[in-house]
Amino acid sequence: MANSEIFDRTKDSNELVFPGTRLAVTEEFIAGPGTYSTDDYIYSSVAGLVIIDLGKHEITVMPKAKMSPIPKNNAIILGKVVNVSRQVITVSVFSIENKEIYPTYTMVIHISSVSREYLETIDEAICLGDVIRAKIIDSKTIPLQGSLISSQLGVIQSNCSICGAKLNKIGRNKLKCSSCSNIESRKTAIDFGSGHLGYKL
Ligand SMILES: [Zn+2]
Repeated sequence: MANSEIFDRTKDSNELVFPGTRLAVTEEFIAGPGTYSTDDYIYSSVAGLVIIDLGKHEITVMPKAKMSPIPKNNAIILGKVVNVSRQVITVSVFSIENKEIYPTYTMVIHISSVSREYLETIDEAICLGDVIRAKIIDSKTIPLQGSLISSQLGVIQSNCSICGAKLNKIGRNKLKCSSCSNIESRKTAIDFGSGHLGYKL
């Protein structure tokens, strides 16, 4: 399975990963349950949390519980940003109310529902590949309509747009690359980068 994602580092324990995410190199780890290896790399075969057993040198991915809740208004979702246009972002929703869903739903979020602050363009606040926590504001439409307006909502994981390394939060909506020191802006959730993905509002 070809994957264009840049491999910058071995993933951390408890890090949320997706099918096809590169986790580690086969020189360092054995591919455990929830993973597969090809061409010197180990990839995740499921959406779930990374578990690293340093004693056995084994990396596994624990899938989230397999139940598919029906989208409802005000439900909290997790998703990955798969498209960014001038006015709208498109999100592949992989979890509703802390439960993994399959197949995924598609959600769109209009620029007016991204931030209370005025945005010239949406990419000041959200970029392709970001993992976000959002709220469903209209569950009756296809795609679902979402909002990021709340301090608990917004980007929760993001990678550098230049080098692909992990971004760390250095200010309210400011992120800094852990590798190349590039500074980026995002509409972050209050707990960005904590690895805490679920949330009860
Ligand atoms: Zn960087």
